Amino acid sequence: MKKTKEKEHYLKEIYRLEMANELISVSSLSKVLGVSKSSVSNMIKKLVVMNLLNSAPYKAIEFTSEGLELARTIVAKHRLIELFLVEVMAFEPENVHAIAEEIEHIESPAFFRKVKQMLSQRKIDPHGSPIPDVEF
Ligand SMILES: [Zn+2]
Repeated sequence: MKKTKEKEHYLKEIYRLEMANELISVSSLSKVLGVSKSSVSNMIKKLVVMNLLNSAPYKAIEFTSEGLELARTIVAKHRLIELFLVEVMAFEPENVHAIAEEIEHIESPAFFRKVKQMLSQRKIDPHGSPIPDVEF
């Protein structure tokens, strides 16, 4: 997996755990991501250095405000794309996740602003999850 993609994947899963009020730890992440605890630890260290996460021994991992903002942006991109695929392109909801996983990594604020605009500010994705309200 490409580096940025992997980083964004982690942030997205951490965001999901946080929204579900679940404990964010090396072992919980290792479980949801299906990777070893040592890979998780390595990535957490990198994300801490990048000032996206806070982590201390015996404490839960948490977002910095910068990390939370980035995670919300990635999740919003993913969910907006899913909604776009269903509403505009007439995909079946069960077929949109894998496509959104690819498109969410496009680095074009203009693209996502346009998608958001075309969906006239809708707030819920096709799976019933709220779309974080972010400015692209
Ligand atoms: Zn999805």
